[in-house]
Amino acid sequence: MNFIVDHNVGKLLRWLRLMGFNSLFFTGEDDGLMVKQALAEDRIILTRDTGIMKRRLVTSGRVKAILLESEDPERQMRQLLSALDLKAQARPFTLCLEDNAPLLAASKEDVKDRVPPYVFKTQTQYVECPACRRVYWRGTHYLAMLHRLEKMYNNA
Ligand SMILES: [Zn+2]
Repeated sequence: MNFIVDHNVGKLLRWLRLMGFNSLFFTGEDDGLMVKQALAEDRIILTRDTGIMKRRLVTSGRVKAILLESEDPERQMRQLLSALDLKAQARPFTLCLEDNAPLLAASKEDVKDRVPPYVFKTQTQYVECPACRRVYWRGTHYLAMLHRLEKMYNNA
């Protein structure tokens, strides 16, 4: 499952990438381009724009789009979790949260100069983004995000 996220629901990007779903952010003005891109790349559109839902590619079912009801990102995520079977297909810790690139395993030595000393002492597993070189590890911030996600599953 891949997504294209409209600018009006941009907070969903990080959650989706955290779960390992290939997700692009659409910031353009022309909605028609977003729908075409969704068709070409087999992406589900996430939006709060009712106009998108009336486009022919969407009404005909060739492009799947989900209209999010709430302005609140957590409620949007809950709506998504009940609409799609995200949990079964989630692969957390596989995509860069910033640029959507697939993460690669990195050795402790590789990341030595790029993580804080206390992290280096306590964490043994790292992954790295080949695009932006950001290093990820299963630290407190990451675990807190997963914990929030777990709560959203339970309330979905
Ligand atoms: Zn990156």
